[in-house]
Amino acid sequence: MTHLMNTYARLPVAFVRGEGVWLWDQSGKRYLDALAGIAVNTLGHGHPALVKAIEEQARRLIHVSNLYRIAEQEKLADKLAAISAMDNAFFCNSGAEANEAAITIARLYGKGRDIENPAIIVMEKAFHGRTLATLTATGSRKVQAGFEPLVSGFVRVPFNDLASVRLVAGGNRNVVAVLVEPIQGESGVNPASAEYLRGLREICDRQGWLLMADEVQCGLARTGKWFAFQHAGISPDVVALAKGLAGGVPIGACLARGIAANTFKPGNHGSTFGGNPLACAAALATLDTIEREGLIENAERIGALIRGELAAALAGVAGVAEIRGRGLMIGIELERPCGALAARALEEGLLINVAADNVIRLLPPLVMNEAEGRELVGRLASLVREFLVQSAAAAHG
Ligand SMILES: *Cc1c(COP(=O)(O)O)cnc(C)c1O
Repeated sequence: MTHLMNTYARLPVAFVRGEGVWLWDQSGKRYLDALAGIAVNTLGHGHPALVKAIEEQARRLIHVSNLYRIAEQEKLADKLAAISAMDNAFFCNSGAEANEAAITIARLYGKGRDIENPAIIVMEKAFHGRTLATLTATGSRKVQAGFEPLVSGFVRVPFNDLASVRLVAGGNRNVVAVLVEPIQGESGVNPASAEYLRGLREICDRQGWLLMADEVQCGLARTGKWFAFQHAGISPDVVALAKGLAGGVPIGACLARGIAANTFKPGNHGSTFGGNPLACAAALATLDTIEREGLIENAERIGALIRGELAAALAGVAGVAEIRGRGLMIGIELERPCGALAARALEEGLLINVAADNVIRLLPPLVMNEAEGRELVGRLASLVREFLVQSAAAAHG
């Protein structure tokens, strides 16, 4: 560890093997994975279809650069356009880069409308990544602290509050776009209401702004539709994707529609690795497997099961504030900070994560079956009860 920069407070475990929703550490201990590498391992671990696609592509061709046509990339763009109703795609390597592409599209779009200093409306408690522009767009002082000067050109408003957006529309002539997570992930699984997303669409249409959805965490079948914005029946102009897109192989994508799809010209943006044959083959296999195995419906069904069973198991337990989310993106908000729960769960062979200090976040692989969902609830409910009883006792001396 001594030669790694000190950016993560890591839990004391290293996994050596995985299969489905299960992981094994060096000692042979088995863990139920309800985090999926933070919404990345869409198909769980070691899915044969994904392994086969990666193996075959690696044997054929790993990388060639975007100076040439890449068949797998063109095929993936076709597939993403078909499932999202967007027009085209730019490929990169992470969620932050997908949002950077969205931000650059918005700025170019603004320049095209003779706006010298284009601004983007962003939300309180948003998370968009760790590059300088995306950490500026992020609504968390903790993420920004120490990295000033931040990037200019962002206007922050409260989440789920249309009146604030209307207020900005009335007074700020520099705004060119709104960037929003349809379900905020890092700040504790906070869904935008359908009315809010529809209202944003209306305002953007009226103002000539781009509506840009950061679906890096909530996108790609996790919430029971291909994209979370589809629950509201709206169509954004720009969509940022990454995490689950290639089932664990690094990839990011920025999708665009209409005028936003024609903003970039050759030379405006690029990425050496972005959309290389290996990553695109992995993404194609991931999307294909999601369809073939009915994982969109599975995410909806198992997510509802987990939320329902959790609600029953924790009914009347003092200290549980709310159970929320959609599909297999679930938050359990407690009335007190519960960061210690992740380490405690690890001891019990369960991988969970705590967001925003007091929200247990579950992002299991979309292949989780009913028995595994029930096992997750059983293990988690007893951990939560134990934690709340002990911390209440500690608080009362
Ligand atoms: C994780 C995340 C990002 C950043 O993705 P990276 O791949 O870590 O750069 C951006 N937006 C959202 C909503 C995320 O959850």
